[in-house]
Amino acid sequence: MSTKYPPLPKALPLPVLRELAAAVGEANVVWRPQDLLVYEYDATIGRAMPSVVVLPASAEEVAACVRVAGRHGLPVVPRGAGTGLSGGALAVHGGVVVSTMRMNRILEVNAEERFAVVEPGLVNLRLTEAAARHGLFYAPDPSSQKACTIGGNVAENSGGPHCLALGTTTNHVLGLECVLADGAIVRLGGWGVERPGYDLTGLVVGSEGTLCIVTKVCVRLLPVPEAVTTLLAVFDTIDQATEVVSEVIASGLLPAALEMIDKYVIRAVEPVLHIGFPLDAEAVLLIEVDGLREAVDEDARVAEAICREHGAREVRAAERPEERARLWQGRKESIGALGRLAPNYYILDGVVPRSKLPEVLRRVYEVSERYGFLCANVFHAGDGNLHPNLMFDEREPGATERVLECGGEILRLCVEAGGAISGEHGVGHEKRDYMRWIYGEDDLSAMELLKEVFGATDRFNPCKILPTGHGCGETQQSTIERLGPGAWV
Ligand SMILES: Cc1cc2nc3c(=O)[nH]c(=O)nc-3n(C[C@H](O)[C@H](O)[C@H](O)COP(=O)(O)OP(=O)(O)OC[C@H]3O[C@@H](n4cnc5c(N)ncnc54)[C@H](O)[C@@H]3O)c2cc1C
Repeated sequence: MSTKYPPLPKALPLPVLRELAAAVGEANVVWRPQDLLVYEYDATIGRAMPSVVVLPASAEEVAACVRVAGRHGLPVVPRGAGTGLSGGALAVHGGVVVSTMRMNRILEVNAEERFAVVEPGLVNLRLTEAAARHGLFYAPDPSSQKACTIGGNVAENSGGPHCLALGTTTNHVLGLECVLADGAIVRLGGWGVERPGYDLTGLVVGSEGTLCIVTKVCVRLLPVPEAVTTLLAVFDTIDQATEVVSEVIASGLLPAALEMIDKYVIRAVEPVLHIGFPLDAEAVLLIEVDGLREAVDEDARVAEAICREHGAREVRAAERPEERARLWQGRKESIGALGRLAPNYYILDGVVPRSKLPEVLRRVYEVSERYGFLCANVFHAGDGNLHPNLMFDEREPGATERVLECGGEILRLCVEAGGAISGEHGVGHEKRDYMRWIYGEDDLSAMELLKEVFGATDRFNPCKILPTGHGCGETQQSTIERLGPGAWV
């Protein structure tokens, strides 16, 4: 990954700001440098200042902003809650950041047809809560679901602990409304009903805001299962836990969720949340099975037997909703607790074939140790989706460069093991240089052509996903060099 960022954008001329204000209202244009600071980040370690942020309230207002940007040759960068972990929402060339935070309504919950239509700025958890009132749920549940938006989830094709059996966002989006680079508002896919034609919805899901801005999302809702059991299995070695992951899937059992938490994460979370994760364990697994009561009991028995065969020293079953909620709180709030271990952390997102988990994880610890970083792991083990968290202190000279290099080496390990550079956090700005590790030039050119089909030039969320793109190669002047250490981390 490149550690370099382009020069800070110049302030926009007043007439451009006036045109944007005409599109969304003066109060919804953020242009003062001190106000723009909060849009300089997402949740990874890069930084880049937008020239201006607009907060439209409708697709029409989004389209008007995109047209203004187009007329003045300005980059456009869609943004949800800014919890992204690959630098996707960073305005690396400056330009107009289009925030969806005011477009946060649930437009329809159709319990009979089991779908919902929502605006892109809706926080993921709000959808789950609304669906629950109808005995339904929305499956993709990123650990950031208290903050991240459905639009961001669509753009990143986000996963979550409960995507193992049910699939990631792409499997749950039925249709989209989007604003294209020329300001046209188009509807893709079906609105509760399948429609023929090219699967453009599938194309837009995971396109990381490089093709269009999503302004409405129609999602599939599923019935809440009759019974759910969550097992907490405690292990004295990492290998025992990772072997159980492969074994559970090989047995034919497909749990609703299969997550792993290592000792470093346990030691960060447990003293704060008091979940009941044993502080002396090397790793714990959370294995959730759901469905009809009888099937759930049987599946839980099978999973427990596999854990015990592989040396689990304890397997606890949580059946009551509040017990289960506590375990999931321990998992979903674990990243936040890592702040107790070091001032900064760098979250990686690699994916490997499940059978390679024991070997790859061993090497992940070795590599991070060689670089001198504590590596805390909490991840979607059932999907082979690793999230090594490298703990560091940005104030130490050279630490940021070293942590990025270490991260690159770990992702390389994943690729060499037959995996890839992202399981769910996307490629964004952070990993676009690594795309060449997994794609040939022809593959990348085909993807580049797609942008043309959507009319999305290099102005549309520039320097994201693809290692190509006009101006991206020349933007390698280091912000650290220009602004001094600590300027962007
Ligand atoms: C603690 C923590 C835990 C996390 N856990 C998970 C997890 O379990 N699973 C997972 O998959 N991710 C996880 N993430 C990553 C992140 O939350 C997801 O990628 C999420 O989908 C980003 O949503 P957002 O609203 O914050 O998007 P942003 O960060 O604002 O943007 C992300 C990308 O989406 C684009 N975008 C946003 N809105 C739109 C739109 N309306 N139209 C077009 N493009 C748009 C942006 O341009 C950018 O490229 C986690 C992050 C954190 C900080």
